[in-house]
Amino acid sequence: MRVTVIGAGTMGAGIAHVCAAAGHDVSIRDIEPNVVMDAIDTISNRLSAGVDRGYITEAEKEQAVDDLDGTTDLDSALDGADLVIEAVPEDLDLKRETFADAEDHVDEETIIATNTSSMSVSSIAAALKHPERAVGLHFFNPPHKMGLIEVVLADQTDEETADRAEEFVDGLGKEPVVVTDTPGFASSRLGVALGVEAMRMVENGVASVEDIDAAMELGYNHPVGPLELTDRVGLDVRLDICEYLHEELGDRFEPPEILREKVENGDTGKKVGRGFYVWEGGEPKDVADDEDYDIEDVI
Ligand code: NAD
Repeated sequence: MRVTVIGAGTMGAGIAHVCAAAGHDVSIRDIEPNVVMDAIDTISNRLSAGVDRGYITEAEKEQAVDDLDGTTDLDSALDGADLVIEAVPEDLDLKRETFADAEDHVDEETIIATNTSSMSVSSIAAALKHPERAVGLHFFNPPHKMGLIEVVLADQTDEETADRAEEFVDGLGKEPVVVTDTPGFASSRLGVALGVEAMRMVENGVASVEDIDAAMELGYNHPVGPLELTDRVGLDVRLDICEYLHEELGDRFEPPEILREKVENGDTGKKVGRGFYVWEGGEPKDVADDEDYDIEDVI
């Protein structure tokens, strides 16, 4: 298939990598030329790492790199697309605009998918002239390591689109979980609930950041604790989702003050080297010294 990924940030690059590794012809588009270039480098490096670890052969890697192109030009990115996956920031108007723009450049059979973590796929789909071709394909971070993809059925999604989306996910070697279009779906709703409670526990001085994470890692066998996961996802991304779920599902999702403050200070997690942890070489090295945050004030 020819797959076009719109948005080449954390998720767009990861999704393009997984699609390229599965043998699809992939085009990735961003509005920022340097982001496109970084994404192509990241994908090539990850494909090489995949060869080293025996996941793909050198020939498959070469083919994947040949079949991958990056651009800022929407026209060429969408030329001949069978499937479009948008991974632009979590903003409803931007996603609707991205869907509508994409539809103007593709055939009627092209599926248009959103990687939204929480927003109404039906509302995004409503921007299309043919919303029955819309579906949510919710990948997890990092896409090449995570086995799950939520297939989110909008009110308008028709059976053919749902079947083709599930087949596509199977073809990537991932497990599809089909969910109806509700705020946060199954995964983000539960994941954010845990993350928000962990942040409130930091605010209330219940335990240290490391110990709260250790409680979930060692006590519940979570591979990563909720605060480290928030750093990996991006605090800004988490805040957007939290605000949306707060609006849709009520006060239990109200963003904790510490999350707002860290985002305001630019401490958005792994991508900038500081969030709840200080990051070095892609790994958490230390707990961030939170003397800037008046934690006592919010108890
Ligand atoms: P990101 O900020 O890393 O990347 C978004 C990219 O979109 C940026 O590079 C930006 O330049 C680009 N962009 C903005 N407007 C654009 C446009 N009109 N056309 C093309 N590109 C445009 O964000 P992300 O973390 O990759 O998140 C993207 C989406 O994936 C969000 O909806 C988010 O909720 C969802 N998601 C994120 C994660 C995660 O762990 N980060 C996990 C699952 C789903």
